[in-house]
Order: sequence, then C-alpha cells, then structure tokens
Amino acid sequence: MDRIEQLKKVLDELAISYSENESMKDHTSFKIGGPAAIYVEPKNAEELSSAFRSASFLGVAPYVLGKGTNVLFDDEGYEGAVISTLALDSIERDGMRISCGAGHSMTSLARFALDESLAGLSFAYGIPGSVGGGVYMNAGAYNGEISYVLENSTYLDTSDGTLHTLPAELHEFGYRYSSYKAHPDRVILNATFLLREGEYNDIKAEMDDFMTRRKAKQPLEYPSAGSVFKRYPGRYTAQMIDEAGLKGASVGGAAVSEKHAGFIINKGGATCRDVLTLIDMIKTEIFRKFGIEIECEVIHVKG
Ligand SMILES: Cc1cc2nc3c(=O)[nH]c(=O)nc-3n(C[C@H](O)[C@H](O)[C@H](O)COP(=O)(O)OP(=O)(O)OC[C@H]3O[C@@H](n4cnc5c(N)ncnc54)[C@H](O)[C@@H]3O)c2cc1C
Repeated sequence: MDRIEQLKKVLDELAISYSENESMKDHTSFKIGGPAAIYVEPKNAEELSSAFRSASFLGVAPYVLGKGTNVLFDDEGYEGAVISTLALDSIERDGMRISCGAGHSMTSLARFALDESLAGLSFAYGIPGSVGGGVYMNAGAYNGEISYVLENSTYLDTSDGTLHTLPAELHEFGYRYSSYKAHPDRVILNATFLLREGEYNDIKAEMDDFMTRRKAKQPLEYPSAGSVFKRYPGRYTAQMIDEAGLKGASVGGAAVSEKHAGFIINKGGATCRDVLTLIDMIKTEIFRKFGIEIECEVIHVKG
C-alpha cells in the first residue's frame, strides 16, 4: 500500500473527513495551483493534530493552510496533505482581550472588536487572511501589525503533540516575520489579542477609511495574493516596479496590476509558471535599473 493509501486508511479509522486530488485553485486567493493529493479541513484541534501527525509519521508531507491568500501553489500540485485551519474559527472576549481560533478571518476579528468597542485591530480589516496566517506572517497595514496587539499564541508542537502558549515577546517579530517561519513543526491553533477601550464610532470611521483606501488602490476585482514583494528598506517596491515601466507587463494570464504595481493579478487562466516567470522578469529589471534585489513575500508551495 502506498503512503497516500495508508494515510487514507488512518484518516478513515479516525473518522476524519478528507478529499483527494483537491484543486488548490479553490483554496487560494490567486486561483492557481494543481491538486493536493489529500486535503483535510479538521473540525477541531484534536483532529488537526491527528491528521498532521499521521501524515508526518507516514511520510506524507503535511502543509498547513489558512485562507491561502499569501501562497502560490505549483501547477503540478502538492503530493502531500494540505491541512486547513479554517474550521478553527472560535472567537470570544474576556475583558480587554479577544481570543480566537487560527482559522478565524482577520477581517471578521476586526469586526468583532468593533462590535465590542475594543480598539487596536482596525488595521486587520480588509486583510483577507486567517488569524493563524496573520501571526505567522506578522501581517500588517496602515501603521498597524499583529505584533502590536498580540498577547500570545497557542501552538501545537507536531513533533510530540503537545500544546504550548508563546508570549508575544518570544515571536521574534519583524517585518512580515515571526519565529513560526523557522519552526514548520509548529501549528498555530489560537491567538489572544490585548486591546484598549475605544469609541465605536471612531473605530468604525478608521476601519471604513482603511477599506476605502484599499478599494481605491488595490485591484481587488482580480484574483491575487496581495503584494508579491517585500518592502525594500527605504523604498516602495511598487513604485520601483512602476518606474521600471512594468505596470501591465504580462506572461500568459499573469500581469502586473495597472492599479497597484506591487500586485500580480490573475487575469484568467494564469499558471504558477506564468507568475514565477513574471516575478523573475520583475526582479531582473529592478536589479538592472536600481541595483536592488527585491524579495518575494508570497510563498511558492511545491512538492
Ligand atoms: C487582496 C489582498 C490584500 C492583502 N493585503 C495585505 C495587507 O494589507 N497586509 C498584509 O500583511 N498582508 C496582506 N495580504 C497577504 C495575506 O492576506 C497575509 O499574508 C495573511 O496574513 C495570510 O494569511 P492566510 O491565512 O491567507 O495564510 P496562508 O496564505 O494560508 O498561509 C501563509 C503561510 O502561513 C502559514 N500558516 C497559515 N496558517 C498557519 C497556522 N495556523 N500555523 C502555522 N502556519 C500557518 C502557511 O503554512 C503559509 O506558509 C493580502 C493578500 C491579498 C490577496
């Protein structure tokens, strides 16, 4: 029996539902990617732990996926098990704190904070990822980021199945960086945010302002993974791409957005290969023109 068949058998025995050859186009904001051999959406932390650890044990590489808004899956697909956190979407308030499951959306977390008149999360409104993905990436916008409001996160150590609570100061947060990037064996299950008392109308006005600015500047009408490149210290990457005359440049169905040069959009039928070729073109041109090596923020998933 091959490893995938063995994993299916174990998942059946554990009564954990899964699908086979699941298209990653349907689980990513880029709408790109071939099939994952196994796709699991565990209903709770116990199922997630069992699915992840069984896959690892059997040599089927597990990949944790939130809302898939910062990843680019390969056209060949993924030969392992994609494990989604989306069903871990609990949320509750306790005093000045909000705790939520890793699969909860950042936008609805911001809305929940608004309804509770708790301030500090307006920046998250409009970021289309999950809370787990947000902690992993230290997501941020409009002068706010996860690291400013996170109190702690709880993770599953998949090497032994134990749970741990990591205080914010041990996340080694940096620009689009947390220590989780160095620990692929850790799956974020929960996050707790420490917020401040706010005025409903002030918080709402700020959130509305951020959303208006997003809609005006970002090509939200097309599938994408947001800004493809990291900011280069002291420079706006999108501005460099624009100045290099690359707005509208395209390869196959992938194009540099005319509205925001930091975004690569899927104009229809783009493949991972199209996007990677376009990324290479952009990097080469930026290096030729500015002598700067820009780095990708979007994560290419293959294997
Ligand atoms: C239109 C658009 C606008 C965007 N705007 C912004 C913005 O303003 N600011 C910003 O920072 N980002 C932005 N993004 C990018 C993206 O939304 C963020 O990076 C977000 O934090 C990713 O969350 P996700 O759940 O989609 O993660 P995914 O794309 O699913 O995963 C990203 C990485 O996190 C890992 N991961 C996810 N969940 C977990 C978990 N529970 N435990 C361990 N690892 C995990 C995955 O393995 C992967 O390596 C934008 C994207 C789009 C499409």
